[in-house]
Amino acid sequence: MKSYKIACIPGDGIGKEVIPAGQTVLQALADTLKQFSFEFSAFDWGGDYYRQHGVMMPEDGLNALYDKDAILFGSAGDPDIADHITLWGLRLKICQGLDQYANVRPTRILPGIDAPLKRCQPKDLDWVIVRENSEGEYSGVGGRVHQGHPLEAATDVSMMTRAGVERIMRFAFALAQSRPRKLLTVITKSNAQRHAMVMWDEIAVEIAKEFPDVTWDKELVDAATARMVNKPATLDTIVATNLHADILSDLAAALAGSLGIAPTGNIDPERRYPSMFEPIHGSAFDIMGKGLANPIGTFWCAVMLLSHLGEDHAASLLMQAIEKVTADTSLHTGDLGGTATTAQVTDAVCNHIRSLG
Ligand code: ATP
Ligand code: MG
Repeated sequence: MKSYKIACIPGDGIGKEVIPAGQTVLQALADTLKQFSFEFSAFDWGGDYYRQHGVMMPEDGLNALYDKDAILFGSAGDPDIADHITLWGLRLKICQGLDQYANVRPTRILPGIDAPLKRCQPKDLDWVIVRENSEGEYSGVGGRVHQGHPLEAATDVSMMTRAGVERIMRFAFALAQSRPRKLLTVITKSNAQRHAMVMWDEIAVEIAKEFPDVTWDKELVDAATARMVNKPATLDTIVATNLHADILSDLAAALAGSLGIAPTGNIDPERRYPSMFEPIHGSAFDIMGKGLANPIGTFWCAVMLLSHLGEDHAASLLMQAIEKVTADTSLHTGDLGGTATTAQVTDAVCNHIRSLG
């Protein structure tokens, strides 16, 4: 029987609640299907670790992750620690250190979810956003001079490399090709950003030649926000830069009903390193420790994790269990307008796994 090594990094805030819930659900799948097992290892990195050690994770922490099959990550964020420290010191350190260059965000309106677009049928919104996850606006290149002086200045350089753009475009075209509609929208801002974004557009044209059966178009990021609201059914797979996709995917998550549902995969498509799966939501300190966090985003991450491991049957079983639970409004958490607890939702998903499996 296959055994998968899974690193669990709950991080901060409600990450500490939803990641154990994710582990419970994965274990229920393993116990029910008896086709594979999990070896979980937990890492206490995050804000509390920072208060003790002055860093969000150990300097050599990546060494503990290389031999894992996948990583389940909660959230990095702490009201007492600057956001750039929590983000760069943990999440981005892992994403960049393990070269998880493709960030993949499926978005659908799950059964029972009251999504805000009243003119839109659930079937009209079925997207996968591919976010460039290694460079661009978040390359970390830049600097600050003359701090506190009237001449103070600062830059954040959006650095894009040909190799970096080619690999994310190729990944996005291949993903679009694997989906039924074979449709890709390339998000750009080359009308205003005249260097890197122009190269981005040119590379899209080049890579498209490798995928003659994929229909694709180009959309400015500002126009794309309106199109997501007004004509959601014209979109399927979407590829965008690090910053653009960051913003578009929060919009997508909101249009699908709640931040609490949406998952992300930080993928190394070449499989040199483990990929990392995390709910889109952050640490949500306002509801932390109350058992009220919606664990569905983490469960959907577990679906992606299982697909990534090649466990497609387990992945589809878990997705079915999730959809049965979202369809029951008595099991909705506060973010969806209900009163259910993390534990109730977790138990219900586990029960469906047992009855479906
Ligand atoms: P961070 O700074 O880490 O991004 P945040 O405080 O901005 O954290 P988010 O997680 O980004 O919080 O979400 C914003 C709000 O949405 C939260 O304050 C919370 O009320 C709600 N929310 C987010 N995720 C969930 C969830 N899984 N379940 C219930 N409510 C959630
Ligand atoms: Mg936030």
